[in-house]
Amino acid sequence: KQLTSQEAIALEDKHGAHNYHPLPVVLKRGEGVYVWDVEDKKYYDFLSAYSAVNQGHCHPAIVGAMTKQAEVLTLTSRAFHNDMLGRYEEYATDYFKFDKLLPMNTGAEAVETAIKIARKWAYEKKGVAEHDAQIIVCENNFHGRTTTIISFSNDEDARKNFGPYTPGFIKIPYDDTKALERALIENNNVAGFLVEPIQGEAGVYTPADDFIKKSKALCEEHNVLFIADEIQTGIARTGALLAVCGNCTCKGHCERQETYTRPDILILGKALSGGAYPVSAVLADDAIMNVIKPGQHGSTFGGNPVAGAVAMAALDVVKDEKLAQNARVLGNLFRAKLNEYIAGSAIVNLVRGRGLLNAIVINDSEDSSTAWDICVALKENGLLAKPTHGNIIRFAPPLVMNEEQLLECVEIITKTLQRF
Ligand code: PLP
Repeated sequence: KQLTSQEAIALEDKHGAHNYHPLPVVLKRGEGVYVWDVEDKKYYDFLSAYSAVNQGHCHPAIVGAMTKQAEVLTLTSRAFHNDMLGRYEEYATDYFKFDKLLPMNTGAEAVETAIKIARKWAYEKKGVAEHDAQIIVCENNFHGRTTTIISFSNDEDARKNFGPYTPGFIKIPYDDTKALERALIENNNVAGFLVEPIQGEAGVYTPADDFIKKSKALCEEHNVLFIADEIQTGIARTGALLAVCGNCTCKGHCERQETYTRPDILILGKALSGGAYPVSAVLADDAIMNVIKPGQHGSTFGGNPVAGAVAMAALDVVKDEKLAQNARVLGNLFRAKLNEYIAGSAIVNLVRGRGLLNAIVINDSEDSSTAWDICVALKENGLLAKPTHGNIIRFAPPLVMNEEQLLECVEIITKTLQRF
């Protein structure tokens, strides 16, 4: 029997840990840019599972690759080889142009992996004394939920009463290359600078155009690894294959010097699978990745054949359907349309973002419920979005959207905002 929304929510409430506060909508089906709730109401998905479903819900090529592989071999562990992993690693390292890939499952695991690689590199290559390695991170970062990662968060909800915290992190303000330079000069033991090219969870906080390029140059100068967490920004979301591609308009991954900032370590997750399966990865060149030897890191499910098949299909879709280009064009249109609206609006302060990773800042305090109320009203009007940090609403639809659909969504959003 099909559960009603109320029944499904009641079951979760009774039997599930209360570690999320979802909008009161229960989804049962998705296709492309749309999802349907259990009462068959259709919505535009404007969150894309926090940018995991860039290729659209249930993309047939991705689901096809997943089911085909699932019928043959699902898991070997890394105790044995499987005939998909090497193919996937070759495909993905060629796609992103790094020597090596280390496969994991979730974003947080991949961030943990990058931290471990950077620390080991610092001890074995840079000559930092054991236990002294530091990693520079940014205020208001979001890199996941493990005990080490929340140790360098400054979100009280994420941190409080989860200590003792992992040491070895230095926090600087985001988008502040002067602060980065000071931290690098004051500390000789820095292994890496871990940074989101755009801070998604913080509210799609978009730094100055030269922040990433300058940060990388400073890292190079101080022999520090530049570690880009592109779990949310990567895979076409911001209108280029990676956010570190800057404003490059090429259709693939060209590494053009003027725009591209090459990370020493690149962290991917979410849309690496198009949302079909948990797949994450850390990419780096041999000089860095080869510090990891057998037995020093791993995961039972990391590198499983289904993940490999799914990731290759998901990355194919990004190229074949020119999703970066689409995100760029539609993103410009979206911000232009919302800016037109905002000019005469008292409720929205600004719209910001790049490509199809955008947010509006509501003219109300962070602890007000206005943004939540707007999201509930958007839901009633057929569009699903979620507040992040109180007064900010993120807008991140699947990248397979077309112009007509986007304009309809702008209609829904502006009409809804008019009621507030
Ligand atoms: N890093 C960034 C930038 C993210 O946005 C997220 C998730 O939102 C993560 C890491 C954590 O990924 P996961 O939830 O798959 O562990």
